[in-house]
Amino acid sequence: MVDFSLSEAQLDLRESVRRFCAARWGTDVVRAVEHGDNGRYDARSFADIAAMGLLGLGVATTYGGEGASWLDRVIAHEELGRFLFLSPHYVSAVVSAGLLQTWGTPAVCERLLPKLATGEAIVTYAIAPGFGDPAGLPATSSSRPAEVRMTGDDMTARLWAVPYASIATHFLVVAPSDQGFELLLVERERATVSCDRLITMAGAPLYDVTIASSPADKVSARVLSAADIDRSLTECRLLLAAEALGAAKAANELAVRYASEREAFGQRIGSFQALQHKLADMTTRIQLADDAVYYAARITDEGQGSLAPTALAILSAAEMYTYVARNAVQIHGASGVMADSDVSLHFRRCRMITADIGDRRWLEKVIADDLLSESAPGIPGELVNTATEAADDDPASTDDSDLDALRAEFRAYFRRIVTPEARAAITASNDDYSGELYRALADAGYLGLAVPREYGGRALSYAALAVFEEEAALAGIPHGVMSVFSSSAHFAACLLARLGTDDQRSRYLPHILSGEYRFTQGFTEPEGGSDLAAARTRANYIDGEFQLTGQKVFNTAHLCTHMIAVVRTNPDVPKHQGISLLLVDLSAPGITILPLYTMRGWRRNLVIFEQTRVPAQDLVGDLDRGWYAVMSVIDLERSSMRVPAERWRVFTELLDELRRRPDGRREIVESEGDSAAIARMYRDSLLGWLLSRHVVWLQDQGQDVTGLASFAKLFNGEAVESFVDGAFELLGASAATEGLASSARAEASLGSVLADLYKDSRNWQIAGGSSEIQRNIIARRVLKLPSP
Ligand SMILES: Cc1cc2nc3c(=O)[nH]c(=O)nc-3n(C[C@H](O)[C@H](O)[C@H](O)COP(=O)(O)OP(=O)(O)OC[C@H]3O[C@@H](n4cnc5c(N)ncnc54)[C@H](O)[C@@H]3O)c2cc1C
Repeated sequence: MVDFSLSEAQLDLRESVRRFCAARWGTDVVRAVEHGDNGRYDARSFADIAAMGLLGLGVATTYGGEGASWLDRVIAHEELGRFLFLSPHYVSAVVSAGLLQTWGTPAVCERLLPKLATGEAIVTYAIAPGFGDPAGLPATSSSRPAEVRMTGDDMTARLWAVPYASIATHFLVVAPSDQGFELLLVERERATVSCDRLITMAGAPLYDVTIASSPADKVSARVLSAADIDRSLTECRLLLAAEALGAAKAANELAVRYASEREAFGQRIGSFQALQHKLADMTTRIQLADDAVYYAARITDEGQGSLAPTALAILSAAEMYTYVARNAVQIHGASGVMADSDVSLHFRRCRMITADIGDRRWLEKVIADDLLSESAPGIPGELVNTATEAADDDPASTDDSDLDALRAEFRAYFRRIVTPEARAAITASNDDYSGELYRALADAGYLGLAVPREYGGRALSYAALAVFEEEAALAGIPHGVMSVFSSSAHFAACLLARLGTDDQRSRYLPHILSGEYRFTQGFTEPEGGSDLAAARTRANYIDGEFQLTGQKVFNTAHLCTHMIAVVRTNPDVPKHQGISLLLVDLSAPGITILPLYTMRGWRRNLVIFEQTRVPAQDLVGDLDRGWYAVMSVIDLERSSMRVPAERWRVFTELLDELRRRPDGRREIVESEGDSAAIARMYRDSLLGWLLSRHVVWLQDQGQDVTGLASFAKLFNGEAVESFVDGAFELLGASAATEGLASSARAEASLGSVLADLYKDSRNWQIAGGSSEIQRNIIARRVLKLPSP
């Protein structure tokens, strides 16, 4: 399971770097450093971060460093980025130290690393040609690779765009050797070096360097391959991604503050929906990059060996920072364009970081190469659908905290019930429901997974429920089954457990758990669904019962026996205060159910109530307090893993198909467009899944998930469409056409799946609170922007 927690020590580290920067480093220092002549760095601040141990974070304790984890380092660098800290720390203490520590001889490590950790030595680096396998593109940002010639032990070199060359005490050059590459170290004191400063956009301290025949030590422990160096550079860039993340958060805060204060047309500009939605998108993208960067750090610490999550984190952070910085300027209007505005610093810095982060196309190829390898290490191991044996035959006794055992139980179960025949029957029926499968869930006791034990359920944690939903989606359980599962076994059952009367619990819960009663949600009406509190379906209380008149639409009534209906019980008070929740038996007189069909062919319904009678004892919670009742259980609706898990299933199927093509991996990796499409689909799959997992994790901590749940709903909803677009791009026009025509040919099956996903894709941006509503929630409840 993904862990999102930080230890006390990590929180302290974050706090201490933040406090240091707030006290000693401001935008005035950034400007002074950017425009200064002193090698573009502030020696005192550099010495300060050395004294705090930040330069030694990545250096092993045997060499005088802290031997910190990648996670610790990400935390520290995020804070440095937040304050736009500018110094040779990345070049010297991250990249050069990383190359030396990984590939250098013990002698050079002992000699140089302790000095790097204290800032006594500043080692800059330059890369000779030949990097970027498998793409054939340079992994480095310099457009001109170094020219290096060795004569005996002396080096003559032209090095381009070398960072901090004017203050470097050493130059570490990665140069070609007979069989591969080697590390050559030039000590400035023993060398003849001249530096020409380059004019750069955000004060980037770059120099063209000439080294005239000077002694150079060979310091690599063995001959290196381009892939060795590429791996080290990519890992290091995760810390640049962390800096981009911190910087973006600062830029976003500036934009939110400005939007909350600035007035135009007699109101604060933060109340304009155009700006609210822009800020909501900026904040969502920051959260996505945050999860990506931290996840990459954690799995690197675990030694999982895949570069794909790191490459994705780097890409996401760079693109996100660019997006946030540019929009932050836009929100500031002309004042954002002025050189003395703080957002203008971000506008320039994002270009600098994007350049340092390396070539986007190369990172995309790293991702494609990883995912198309047989073991695809970039795919989270728990989602790889390998055979597992259930640890325990008695489901009810499985320990809720042993998620691996639960996953094994659920996976084995779904393998048993979703047989190839069951799959074929579902596909042939072109329906998204199977009564047989729903009954099977009931027989296994799975309809009570979320229900408290005193009512016969298993009261699983949110994390455990997430595992169930993931396994159901990976097994291909139809949406209709899971939709009824959520609205009935999850929402209705938990609503009754929390707010129902004893009588209601005893009349309904056993039947919900047995699958006999199935509840649909009756929220949306033909006049509108987003504004739930504006429900018009009228429930008049007459002689001990309610009489219902009105309509509910888009629900799953044809699959259900009952409806939880949001009805208006008092039209004379503000709208939120006059609605109630009723349990409605759908077989009662006065109810007409008319079918409607989605683009994908799935049935939804219009339910018409004409003086339908509902006994008073089927009112849930207090009269006129229905809005608050729904809000009190809305957390149950917020952590669906269904969509992200289904995306993983389709993605892994697609990767399998591509792998089966002769030479598929090489062809795709060599094609810029194809590897870009794979990288985008990986982003949609991994980041959407991480966000949803983050919601689940917070829920189990008992924390408010409003913000994260809206980020997850927004991203996952919109990612379905972009994911399918990526897949169609990869499979080509013919597959897309076959799929869209829902061809019955066997080889078109993946196309058909994608076509179905495509036809379904807008559902996820509309149902359960549309994307626009999620942006409103983020703007008002998370960012606290003013109301219109
Ligand atoms: C597949 C599917 C299954 C569904 N299942 C159910 C179900 O089981 N039970 C149920 O009750 N409902 C169900 N719905 C309905 C769903 O909840 C509503 O469609 C949704 O809440 C939006 O309501 P609406 O369609 O009336 O759109 P409207 O509310 O009319 O909105 C139309 C457009 O205006 C935008 N909009 C509305 N208000 C604002 C605002 N304040 N700011 C900015 N933009 C705004 C919306 O985002 C949307 O783009 C389902 C819908 C679908 C597609």
